[in-house]
Amino acid sequence: MAVSEQEIQNIVRGVLRNMSGAAETVNPAPVHNTQPKQLMGIFENVEDAIAAAKKAQKEIQPMPLEFREKIIANIRKKTLENAKLFAELGVEETGMGNVGHKILKHQLVAEKTPGTEDLSTVAWSGDRGLTLIEQGPWGVIGAVTPSTNPTETVICNSIGMLAAGNAVVFAPHPAAKKVSNLAIDMVNRASVEVGGPENLATAVYEPSMEVSQVIFKHKDIQLLVATGGPGVVTTVLSSGKRALGAGAGNPPVLVDETANVQKAAEDIVNGCTFDNNLPCIAEKEVVAVDLIADELIYHMEQAGCYKASPEEVQKLIETVFIEKNGRRILNRKCVGRSAKVLLEKIGVTVGDEIRCIIFEGEKTNPLIWEELMMPILGIVRVKNVDEGIATSVELEHGNRHSAHMHSTSVVNLTKYGKAIDTAIFVKNGPSYAALGFGGEGYPTFTIASRTGEGLTSAKTFTKMRRCVMCDALCIR
Ligand code: NAD
Repeated sequence: MAVSEQEIQNIVRGVLRNMSGAAETVNPAPVHNTQPKQLMGIFENVEDAIAAAKKAQKEIQPMPLEFREKIIANIRKKTLENAKLFAELGVEETGMGNVGHKILKHQLVAEKTPGTEDLSTVAWSGDRGLTLIEQGPWGVIGAVTPSTNPTETVICNSIGMLAAGNAVVFAPHPAAKKVSNLAIDMVNRASVEVGGPENLATAVYEPSMEVSQVIFKHKDIQLLVATGGPGVVTTVLSSGKRALGAGAGNPPVLVDETANVQKAAEDIVNGCTFDNNLPCIAEKEVVAVDLIADELIYHMEQAGCYKASPEEVQKLIETVFIEKNGRRILNRKCVGRSAKVLLEKIGVTVGDEIRCIIFEGEKTNPLIWEELMMPILGIVRVKNVDEGIATSVELEHGNRHSAHMHSTSVVNLTKYGKAIDTAIFVKNGPSYAALGFGGEGYPTFTIASRTGEGLTSAKTFTKMRRCVMCDALCIR
């Protein structure tokens, strides 16, 4: 029987793996080869993308966990090497965000996304034997990714999903398809370079709603993960499959009279302006107790904020929103733009030191009420902390996503934490501390707010499997 070239390669890889896991260099083409037809893991047809991921998952599942780690280590290395490239291409393709901050986001993902160490076992041992609950892979995951953190999400999801033993078919945002597919290519090259399978992560050249629908309904996809706005999260949650919904937020930051007001102002401006406010966890509006509101505004101006007049606020509303089918929606040409660019759009010229636009307004002002994803911070003045908590809860719209507070009163912090009931609650720091950036804990760009898993990691992409040995292996 004739043995094909591909089969020979597979056998050699298998032998190398079994011997010592020694690194084998296969097809080490540079990641920045952007010729679309040469991208590894990217297919013309979604059925082929799913079939390839299924085959790769069958290869990865029996491999030692140590081998998964070897692939993950190479993904981390290549992400660090290509952080600048991904950041630049991401900004170029989507028109959104800040290259320097996107580089930091990639470094964070590369260095701190949990790998296989995130998986744990629960055990019961006794007279009737030993029972384990093991966290096993689902198989092939279908993952929808956003335009706001495109490659950060693809790489972070890939590490966590692979650590848990899965392969993944991505449905990247069409507005970020080139750079997302390049990140998928990098994941596969990282695997192949160390002797792992290709197609651990796959996608198609032309992602679309139709392609996503095939993924959502496909018999070979066992788990769906949606990172995006309410539309896609609701769609995957209606699919009839197990799904994780990482949806929209509108994080309020509450400042009470006990706060260190100057530090609060600096933290809020730093958090709000990170990557031009694209992260879903970023401060989207401020609720300030009357006693410190003026001082807070003063320090925010000192920290690089431009205070817009009522007329300028009106112009911003007319610029930032557009009407579509009778609905007010965000003007995509404003999302993820810098304060300077947004001000230019309403005829105001400022220097590079201006990082954020602030104004005082009612909670119902659309720039406060809606999730904007741009560095505009409305400030709602309230009489006291109780009114502040109630206002913040209203502004969070029940997304249960993120909320932040600056206060030195444990009582106030506790009261707010209980009332707001969000997946993320940062106290006395910028919002990005929630991602392990100046705060403890690991990062993710998929925060399962709607479905309650919170910050996703390898363990979130597993299913619980009970493994029972009767009448043996208890050695107590
Ligand atoms: P978006 O909702 O426009 O797109 C997200 C993804 O969903 C894209 O891949 C898009 O093609 C797809 N999509 C949208 N509607 C769909 C449908 N009905 N069926 C199938 N696919 C569909 O979001 P975006 O602009 O890329 O990202 C911004 C939004 O995502 C914000 O609301 C933000 O808060 C949220 N977000 C949440 C998290 C989180 O972890 N919770 C992370 C990033 C972004």
